[in-house]
Amino acid sequence: MRALVKARSEPGLWASEEPIPAIGRDDVLVRVNRTGICGTDIHIYQWDDWARSTVPVPMIVGHEFAGEIVEVGSGVTDLAVGQRVSGEGHVIGMKSRASRGGRFHLDPETRGIGVNMPGSFAEYVRVPAFNVVPLPDDVDDELGAILDPLGNAVHTALSFDLVGEDVLVTGAGPIGIMAAAVARHVGARHVVITDINRERLDLAASVADVVPVDVSREDLADVTARLGMREGFDIGLEMSGAPAAFDQMVASMVMGGRIGLLGIPSRPFAIDWNRVVFRMLTIKGIYGREMFETWHKMLAMLQSGLNVRKVITHRFDAQDFAHGFETMASGRCGKVILDWTKRLPDPVTAGA
Ligand code: NAD
Ligand code: ZN
Repeated sequence: MRALVKARSEPGLWASEEPIPAIGRDDVLVRVNRTGICGTDIHIYQWDDWARSTVPVPMIVGHEFAGEIVEVGSGVTDLAVGQRVSGEGHVIGMKSRASRGGRFHLDPETRGIGVNMPGSFAEYVRVPAFNVVPLPDDVDDELGAILDPLGNAVHTALSFDLVGEDVLVTGAGPIGIMAAAVARHVGARHVVITDINRERLDLAASVADVVPVDVSREDLADVTARLGMREGFDIGLEMSGAPAAFDQMVASMVMGGRIGLLGIPSRPFAIDWNRVVFRMLTIKGIYGREMFETWHKMLAMLQSGLNVRKVITHRFDAQDFAHGFETMASGRCGKVILDWTKRLPDPVTAGA
């Protein structure tokens, strides 16, 4: 099969011919139709310090996928060949207290498909049956391929009761935009989303009824005053990883406000903890998705009017993956999808 491989310990990804994965008794083999390019994949492509210290070489990468089951292991009873599926990319152990207590997303032994084990930028991917999520007929493969990041957004947003609340989302990347759309869908009052990238703010406003604020030009306090907000944001969803954004969020919260922290800063940074203490803020770190409540909720919301389709701004054939990665790395996009349904030609190589 054709696959995108992190073949060498240097920037880039390489298309190559690989064996179709063998599956175990509790696995399924999925024929991949669509994949999403994640920020994580960009780190792996660019081969930054995190990627170097995390990803084994050589390995097929990629973790956002949708496709069809073509083989089931002998121990798999509840899935069938021909089913359309996506899947949870975090593969958990079953030994920890959290797993045995049914809190699967808190398992400390979690490994990532396409990060610590072979991934889905390929014509076929092996997935533990436990991780497979069947797709309803009205959720197509393209949406199926962005359920991983939508799940990050849903996990963060649904950590709090948003009904009637004023919500600040910092960072209008794909996940921030989808989190803002979820906040709107579930009944927040004002949903303000910030960024320093005008194109992404425009995209946010086209996806959902939210207030975009370019914090490189506009004062957030002016915007909240215009909205008639007198005491600050009730809920903050940090989706940029930018220290300046988190600092601004902490400064803009109401007394007793609650913050979900999804954005991953590239290095440790300082904040004014006095603000956290005296405003009695709650800060919750968010990683991945809850298994499998987040999956249930997001599919249910997609089936009941949540529309995030416009977050997908670019589609490329898998053979054109280098353009896909360039587009994603440029930041001038929402989600970028690779189409695996056409056979790839001879192996090609792309540098960084
Ligand atoms: P992204 O990098 O595409 O988007 C981040 C956005 O933040 C960019 O548009 C950038 O312009 C903006 N930004 C930069 N400085 C800002 C500022 N001062 N104020 C407001 N916005 C600012 O990221 P994404 O793919 O949408 O993911 C969002 C974040 O979540 C990233 O930090 C990513 O690493 C992280 N992430 C976390 C998890 C998890 O499980 N915790 C999973 C996936 C992604
Ligand atoms: Zn992802």
